[in-house]
Formats: sequence, structure tokens, C-alpha cells
Amino acid sequence: MQTQKQTQTLAQPQAQPQTQARHRIVVLGGGYAGAGAAGRLAKRLHRDDVRITLVNADPDFVERVRNHQLATGQTLEHRPLSEMFAGTGVEVKPARVTAVDADGKTVTVTGAEGEEELTYDTLVYALGSGWNDHGVPGTAEHAHELASRSGALRLRARLAELDAGRPVVVVGGGLTGVEAATEIAESHPDLDVCLVARAGLGDWLSPKGRRHLRKVFGRLGITVHEHTAVTTVEADRVTTDDGTAIPAAVTVWTAGFAVHPLARATTLQVTDRGQIVVDETMRSVSHPDVYAVGDAAHALGAGGKPLRMSCASGVPTAWQAADAIAARLTGRKLPKLTPRYFNQCISLGRKEGLIQYVTADDRARNAALTGRPAALYKELVCKLAAWGAANPTLGAPTRVRRVTQPSPSRPGSPATTQAAA
Ligand SMILES: Cc1cc2nc3c(=O)[nH]c(=O)nc-3n(C[C@H](O)[C@H](O)[C@H](O)COP(=O)(O)OP(=O)(O)OC[C@H]3O[C@@H](n4cnc5c(N)ncnc54)[C@H](O)[C@@H]3O)c2cc1C
Repeated sequence: MQTQKQTQTLAQPQAQPQTQARHRIVVLGGGYAGAGAAGRLAKRLHRDDVRITLVNADPDFVERVRNHQLATGQTLEHRPLSEMFAGTGVEVKPARVTAVDADGKTVTVTGAEGEEELTYDTLVYALGSGWNDHGVPGTAEHAHELASRSGALRLRARLAELDAGRPVVVVGGGLTGVEAATEIAESHPDLDVCLVARAGLGDWLSPKGRRHLRKVFGRLGITVHEHTAVTTVEADRVTTDDGTAIPAAVTVWTAGFAVHPLARATTLQVTDRGQIVVDETMRSVSHPDVYAVGDAAHALGAGGKPLRMSCASGVPTAWQAADAIAARLTGRKLPKLTPRYFNQCISLGRKEGLIQYVTADDRARNAALTGRPAALYKELVCKLAAWGAANPTLGAPTRVRRVTQPSPSRPGSPATTQAAA
């Protein structure tokens, strides 16, 4: 995804009183979006002026776009968040967020030291998403998921114990389903892999992309049930909407993501899906001191279309939020980015790939890169995304700006007019 830059001038900065307490920024979630936002804030803002706390349930950064690789037995790099943020001034707090009080400006977390309440001046909400079982009976009990690292590890253990010839059913014909089915078929050629897709296989792709997808599926021996919905999942089969039972020693459920339910339990304005509604600077439309980024945010991209839940959207939204927060605190020009897509990078196992070039609003162009070069391109994109997260300030902070706006919530501080700019 790329962005187009415009600028908007804010009111003249006021001098920051020397005695002003540090502005407290709490970032919830250390995935691609949260880690990206925390690092960018540390790069932009002087550490004497802000205190940045990054809360994440897992002590490690999870390279979620590689969960299908983890599930098929590959080893991923271990990336502790504390090491990633060492020397940046960002305080990493391994803890689970259990509540957000968006009116009282507090967050409740549970970590090694028990329950704790964190107070913020600015909140960046980046709790991401999990799997979405759409309420299909038996899914929660019997299906495996890839949205979380723990889910991927459970699937890995289960795949490893299957005898040759056993059936594996991947449900969901989107990007995650396609990547999962091909990865499993390539790494476990003795298993009988099939994919069930509600629509046609890759029907959002260009003709070249679709042809290539079918070729690779054929080469890997993956059976495809198109225009088919799964209505029930049991321990040894799935049943489809026309009553067909498909044998399944393992069912892998990849039919979309559901956002973390926490936002819905707050007074923040959310969509029906539970995503926080934000403006073009990723600021909540109901609570100006809250920003939402990544899968958790309902943000609009080119053509006014909601951004797709993806790493490709998460990183630019994180940068946009961080830059907007820094601009508002330092009285500088407010960046206004129009997020746009450039391509969809799809792995088809380790040796094959598909790069589908798309319009700014994510519709397939009539051009695609396929084969080994596409696999290498996709690998490079994954490496860059992880590198960006693991080097949150890109080495050393280079543009450390002084905060000029008083923290609005501090006793004695004049209420900021900037927050409403
Ligand atoms: C197998 C797979 C392949 C994918 N491939 C691609 C791809 O090729 N390209 C692409 O663009 N996208 C891809 N995606 C989607 C992409 O991974 C997500 O859209 C992206 O991770 C969203 O980033 P995020 O930071 O918003 O959320 P996440 O990466 O989910 O990060 C959220 C963070 O919040 C933490 N968290 C959650 N709940 C709590 C809590 N209560 N307390 C504390 N911390 C919490 C989590 O531990 C996590 O670290 C893929 C997803 C999967 C599952």
C-alpha cells in the first residue's frame, strides 16, 4: 500500500512549560500496527516530553503473516518485544488488556504483577483481530485456526501426527485460505488437501492470476469445492450447504477475521463489526484522545472504501496515527494520507507465488507476477514488514521534536484546543 501526502496547517505552537509532566501515550497491542505506531512515536517525539508504554499479551512480536508457515513446521525468528524496543525509550509491558474506559482515560491490564490500571493522555488502540467462526455449528469445538500463534502451533502439532492419505479441509477461499492450503499441500505432500470456497477460486484476481492459481493448485493436488458453504463442522467431516459430507481429519477455518471484542464494550463509536470508527488521521470520531490502527480500525481508503484487514493496511495506518499525534502535540503540520493499495502478495507454498497488481482501492489490474519471482517478492515483503517492526525507530531516533501542547488531562493544565483541530 502507498500513500499520497497532503498537508494542513495547525495553529501556531505554544511554548511548553518547563514543569509540564510527560504526555502519557499508551499503545495497546504490539502487532504490525501497534509496534509500528509505538516506534514511530518514539522516533518523532522527545523522550523527555512523552512516556510511551506498549502493552501486549505476548512478550514476543508475532509475525502473523507467516502463521501458515509456522503451522507447517517452519521455524520463525524469535523476536522479543523488549529487545525490539531496547534503547528506544518505549516501555514494553507484557500484559493482557481487559478493559478500556475511554471516558475516564484508563486501561485495565493483567500481567505478572496482577491487575493494574494505566492512565493515558493519548491512547493508540491496536488489538488486532482473531478468527471468525461466523457461528457455524461445531467450528469452535472442532476446527483449527491460523489467526493466532497458539492456533498455528496447535495445527502444527496435529498435522505432524496425521498418517499419509488423511484428509485436510481448508475452509475459506480468501487470501489466508489460499496461502494455508498451498503451504500445507507443499509441506505435507502425503496428505489429501482440499479447499472449500464460498465463491469461485480466486475470482477477485485478474485472468492471469486466476489461471496461475488453478495451475498451482492442480500441481499440488489440492481439490477445490467452489461456490460451496460449510454449514457444520464435526470431528471427522464438514457438511456443506447442499448436504455433502467432506471427510476431514483436520479442518482449518480461514473464513475471515473478527476484531477484538473489547472496543465494542466501550463508549467508543464502533461499526457493526466492532471496529473503531476513525477519521483520516486515525483518530476516533467519538473520543479525540483515542486513535485506532490496523485491523481494529474502520478507516477509509481510496474511493472512500473501508480498508481491508491486512498488514498492508495496518502499517500505513500506524504511521498515519503516529505522525498525526506527533503533529498535534508539537503544533506542526498535520499529515493527511490517503491510503491506497498497490498489490496483493500471495504465497503459494515456498516455491510459488502470485503478486496481483491492484488499483488504489484494491481491485485487480490486468497484470500479475507469478512463479518463483513472485515467491521471492512475497518473501521480501514479509522480511521488510518484520524488519520494520523489529527496528521500530529505524536505528536511532532522528527527528525528536519537542512537545508544545499541554497534556489536557493534567490538573492545572489548560485544556488543549489542539485536540479538536
Ligand atoms: C496466516 C495469515 C497470513 C496473512 N498474510 C497476510 C499477507 O500476506 N498480507 C497482509 O497484508 N496481511 C496478511 N495477514 C493479515 C495480517 O496478519 C493482519 O491483518 C495484521 O496482523 C493486522 O495487524 P494488527 O497489528 O492490527 O493486529 P495483530 O497483528 O493481530 O496484532 C495485535 C496484537 O495485539 C495483541 N493483543 C490482542 N489482544 C490483546 C489483549 N487483550 N491484551 C494485550 N494484547 C493483545 C496480540 O497479541 C497482537 O500482538 C495474514 C494473516 C494470517 C493469519
